[in-house]
Amino acid sequence: MVTPVMPTYARADLVFARGEGPYLFTEDGERYLDFGCGIAVTGLGHAHPHLVAALREQAGLLWHASNLYRIGGQERLAGRLVAATFADTVFFGNSGAEAVECALKMARRHHHVNGRPGRFRTVVFDGAFHGRTLATIAAGGQAKHLEGFGPPADGFDRVPLHDGNALRAAIGAETAAILIEPVQGEGGIVPVDTDFLEAVRASADEFGLLVIYDEVQTGMGRSGRLFAHERSGVAPDIMAVAKALGGGMPIGACLATADAAAGMTAGTHGSTFGGNPLATAAANAVLDVMLEDGFLASVEDKAGRLRNGVEDVIARHGGVFERVRGVGMMLGVRCHAPAGDVVGAMRDRRVLAVPAGDNVVRLLPPLIVEDRHIDEALAALDAVGGELAP
Ligand SMILES: *Cc1c(COP(=O)(O)O)cnc(C)c1O
Repeated sequence: MVTPVMPTYARADLVFARGEGPYLFTEDGERYLDFGCGIAVTGLGHAHPHLVAALREQAGLLWHASNLYRIGGQERLAGRLVAATFADTVFFGNSGAEAVECALKMARRHHHVNGRPGRFRTVVFDGAFHGRTLATIAAGGQAKHLEGFGPPADGFDRVPLHDGNALRAAIGAETAAILIEPVQGEGGIVPVDTDFLEAVRASADEFGLLVIYDEVQTGMGRSGRLFAHERSGVAPDIMAVAKALGGGMPIGACLATADAAAGMTAGTHGSTFGGNPLATAAANAVLDVMLEDGFLASVEDKAGRLRNGVEDVIARHGGVFERVRGVGMMLGVRCHAPAGDVVGAMRDRRVLAVPAGDNVVRLLPPLIVEDRHIDEALAALDAVGGELAP
């Protein structure tokens, strides 16, 4: 018999009742160090005092009035995102998949209003993940996500990452855009070389296409920059953001240049909840913290400590762990042991991590961690290395 909660997840048998900073506490009061952040969402940890105060205040004022009216918090958030990025304009939704969906629609509309209505296809990459809607599973192209859901949505051409020739060969008269994660997340924390991002940009410019970055997982400080592509200096035309944007409140955003968004006029796209007062109050509070002087620099420092420590652990347990890759507070440890076993053994030691593709264990600590939390996680990883040694 089916459970009341539809069983689409293979869940660990744990119920968390509250959180504080980098820690989660179960109903029985057991403490877990959260190096998964609910899959890169709680970037500022749990119950951050500034976020709690902002949401409390907004909760007593107004939750929702709809996009039929202006929303002060949404206008403020959009203005701050525009000021901090390549973008001129922002659409708000409620999730990563919706942000990517908006990006895909926007690219098609851009060509439509520029007299090229035949351009609707998007070039995508092996190992990508873009969400679980019908369009975004087609964009991600993973067999396990597509199976049984009918013919995949048309309009996606997949090529290997880091293959400029394959990329150019995939571009045709119907191509509208190229969609890429600057660091593949679900695919196993695979950073894209700056050279290749430059090749993507150059091909797009040559053929009049739009570059879409999916920074749903990499965005909002996780890379040590506000957005991961800032490390390469190669800007997109459109960018999807979500996960850590609201610090745990569901909110997604699709940022774009004025030119890319030229087709997004009144009536072309919408979302009932998108950018409502509660969600944008949370996201504005997140930005208050992340844009403070020195905050992102401190993330880089702590990320260095974490990475060095992980490298030491790998050197001690070469039979269990292979190597580490990633940027900032987004590290993937490629394992010899099954990544799921490593995550399970870490959990038994009260440290949470997240498995990813390519037999990788993702370490996604909150950006507010201190050295002692990093050392606590490294000690658990080291112990697991000993425990799982062949
Ligand atoms: C998580 C994720 C998504 C989907 O976000 P949802 O909020 O689950 O819809 C899309 N792209 C990337 C890169 C992600 O990591």
